[in-house]
Amino acid sequence: MGELSKRTMALWALWLLLVPPGLFLVYQTFPPPEIDPWHLTAYVLFFVITCLMPMNINGASTYLVQWVTIAVFLKYGIFVEILISQLTMLIVLTRSRTDEPLSMRIPFNSTMFFLISCCSGLAYLAAGGQIGSLNLVHIIFYGLLFQIVSVIANQIIYYSYDRITGSKAKFFSVDAMWDFALTLLVFPYAIALYISEAYIGIPALLLLGIPFLIMTAVMKMYNNSEQITSDLKKAGEIGHQLAERLSTDEVLDQFVIQVSEMFKSDYAYVIDYRDGNLLMLRMYENQEFEKFSVPPVRYHKGIAGNVIVTNTPVIYRKKSEWKDIVTGYIPIDTESIMCTPIARNNKIEGVLLLASRKKYAFVSHQLKILDILSTYFAVSLEKAGYVQKAIAKSERCGLTKLYNYRYLDEALEKSMGKVNTGRIKNLSLVMMDIDHFKGINDKYGHQSGNDILIELARILEAEVGREGIVARYGGEEFVIMFENYSKDLALLFAESLRRKIEKHKFSIQRDLDTERSTENVHITLSIGVSTAPDDSDEPNALIRNADRALYIGAKQAGRNKVAAYVK
Ligand code: GH3
Ligand code: MG
Ligand code: MG
Repeated sequence: MGELSKRTMALWALWLLLVPPGLFLVYQTFPPPEIDPWHLTAYVLFFVITCLMPMNINGASTYLVQWVTIAVFLKYGIFVEILISQLTMLIVLTRSRTDEPLSMRIPFNSTMFFLISCCSGLAYLAAGGQIGSLNLVHIIFYGLLFQIVSVIANQIIYYSYDRITGSKAKFFSVDAMWDFALTLLVFPYAIALYISEAYIGIPALLLLGIPFLIMTAVMKMYNNSEQITSDLKKAGEIGHQLAERLSTDEVLDQFVIQVSEMFKSDYAYVIDYRDGNLLMLRMYENQEFEKFSVPPVRYHKGIAGNVIVTNTPVIYRKKSEWKDIVTGYIPIDTESIMCTPIARNNKIEGVLLLASRKKYAFVSHQLKILDILSTYFAVSLEKAGYVQKAIAKSERCGLTKLYNYRYLDEALEKSMGKVNTGRIKNLSLVMMDIDHFKGINDKYGHQSGNDILIELARILEAEVGREGIVARYGGEEFVIMFENYSKDLALLFAESLRRKIEKHKFSIQRDLDTERSTENVHITLSIGVSTAPDDSDEPNALIRNADRALYIGAKQAGRNKVAAYVK
């Protein structure tokens, strides 16, 4: 049995042991007075409406139902108050947005509410409070006692439960303070409700209820606008930070992290829309990037597909709203989903999907903000793409697309740093120059010379792979830098390269003839090798060493040769 189901069983056992017998005992000991069913029905109805209008305070839903429960208690006593509290609990539970299963929360909350009702009701009666009294001082004094005991009991039970289950709890939390303040705030309402109901009956509920509900509604609107303001502010910050990112990967990562933090989503996905397919670009689940791959789906399918086809953002509040649409991957425990197209210049580039395990996790203003954010995102992504291209251009040679000497110089400096701090053992340079290249240009034309340089560049890249860095150092000179290559290893590589090139047929189009014909050309390389720290521990000197080996050891010795630098 899992930890969760064990706890659920224990809670139900506790509930069975306490609540039904307790209720029976209370009924026997403190039977309720004669009840006018219409009055009680009116109370209950009114009560349910109050329950359905939670107030958002400090980011949490707060139900100001105490003002009705106190009035009910003062009028009907402990037994009816218990029943009404249990009703509150059920309504609040089914409406609240947590991911704990109801099967566990019902016994827990029911038992807790029952205990609180008993504590405060018994304290009231034990201290001498009377049910149905119309003496104002008596009502205020004992009513307050009832209230305070109820808050304290609530505090103690929650605190003990957190302690038992091992979560860190503070006795005087901000939430507890709010609870207490609100209790005092609604208390005068409760007294007013009770007394006026005693004198004028059911109309008292309307008389006090209507302004109360209006107040709740106004508070709700105020809270909503507060929430929107704060969300907009956050969105602005996210936009700024996105604009600062210079690589597309950084933009993607940062966007996913920040958006899922802002909207408190459990799952976030950026889906790329290309060639009619939807492909997962980023998966961020429970604050971590997931690497496993998800097969692409056709674009008109599933939740994301719908968003693309209709080009409209969408919110699903619970599973039943989307479970017939979904085709692709989505975690099994997902409930709420918020999904928006990512568009740039009126063209949809992808889809952003946020999901939560809670029901009703996202609200409509958040979707609008997310829509704005995804535009920021698309623009930042485009900008980062341009920046990346510009950087790549400044680092690469236009003809061969290999790294240029500037890039090599920087890379060499960094790697030499690693040698000098002992992070790598050695570093080798393989420098090569094409033999008699001028002759090739003269014979076949400059364009054909270029074609050979390009083909050679591809061969070098293929030979080196991820082992080292290939750069075009000048006209027909290339340098390869290998970290952790000893001189012997570098010489071995150079020799095998020399042989490969010697045998390779470079195919060129003769551009000097009037009719263009394809021809195979052979070239050879003269290669010089130098190694740090053996030959030098200084970048420029290491290059000079390789150059010397190339010209003295290889070129002057007859070309098509490999030579190591010797001091
Ligand atoms: P060797 O190195 O064996 O002494 O003879 P070489 O003919 O290669 O000698 P050198 O280094 O003096 O000449 C290099 C030639 O490479 C000169 C130039 O025409 C050619 N070259 C340099 N850059 C390019 C280029 O980008 N494209 C083409 N097609 N040729 C280039
Ligand atoms: Mg040459
Ligand atoms: Mg040269």
